[in-house]
Amino acid sequence: MEKISVAVRFRPSTAGDPTSERHWRTEDNRISLHRPLGTPVSGASFAFDYVFDPNYTNAMVYDLLIKSIIHAAVDGFNGTAFAYGQTSSGKTFTMNGSEEDPGIIPLAVKDVFRTTKLSTEREFLIRVSYMEIYNEEINDLLALENQKLPIHESLERGVYVAGLREEIVNSSEQVIESSAKDPMNLGDLSNGDAIRVSVLNLVDLAGSERIAKTGAGGVRLKEGKHINKSLMILGNVINKLSESGKQRGHIPYRDSKLTRILQPALGGNSKTSIICTVAPEEAHIEESRGTLQFASRAN
Ligand code: ADP
Ligand code: MG
Repeated sequence: MEKISVAVRFRPSTAGDPTSERHWRTEDNRISLHRPLGTPVSGASFAFDYVFDPNYTNAMVYDLLIKSIIHAAVDGFNGTAFAYGQTSSGKTFTMNGSEEDPGIIPLAVKDVFRTTKLSTEREFLIRVSYMEIYNEEINDLLALENQKLPIHESLERGVYVAGLREEIVNSSEQVIESSAKDPMNLGDLSNGDAIRVSVLNLVDLAGSERIAKTGAGGVRLKEGKHINKSLMILGNVINKLSESGKQRGHIPYRDSKLTRILQPALGGNSKTSIICTVAPEEAHIEESRGTLQFASRAN
């Protein structure tokens, strides 16, 4: 298995709320939780591949964590990036961004165009999708009318989400414009040698709120339970995969939506990054600890 890169990103504190600086300290790729007077909380120090404090822009996150996935996709690997964190911790901001600070989706699409433009040898076709997994239901974030989509499996496509919108990013437009290439050669696009097809899954694991904090039944309870299930199964799968051959036994990919979608990614020909987003305020400490605990398990 290719190693999964795990990053933790802190969003800026809500205006006027200074409580975060007192609690979370980051140093290089380490995070620790401190009491208000500065003593570290034992058992609450974590290390990751990357830690992004609020000074990191989306462009920096892209360059450090996502770019290599995009370049691997151009080389024919499948890629998955997913964001996990409680509501309001910055998942959507990281994925979509703002006008001044575009998120990893627009940056990825731009990068694919730029990269393919530089290559005259081969055509690329990358299918980009963006979905949310919420209560073990898959919703399309590129086409909001597509809700509760099923997972299918076929010989040609492997495991895929049926009905999910895929934005096709390819280089044929550039090829048509480019005098370096004879447009008649576009026929080669159907020929497996001339074109590489990769899939880029972007996943938003909506609302990771814990049951304990909401203290509510109904929808909230269901949400918390399912999110825990998906992530718990992912943790189990990752642990199993890290065991050597014989001890591995059954790998429970099928037990959650997330691990089914990630199965090809976890299996081999692919690259995966997880961005865990954290809301830094005091009110969210327990939730944030939960997020970091999960993230360090996946690391
Ligand atoms: P989520 O999708 O996890 O519920 P959002 O991405 O909607 O959270 O973020 C909540 C709020 O915080 C939004 O107003 C968003 O613009 C802001 N925000 C999140 N992350 C950042 C960041 N890194 N820099 C600036 N603003 C951010
Ligand atoms: Mg969101």
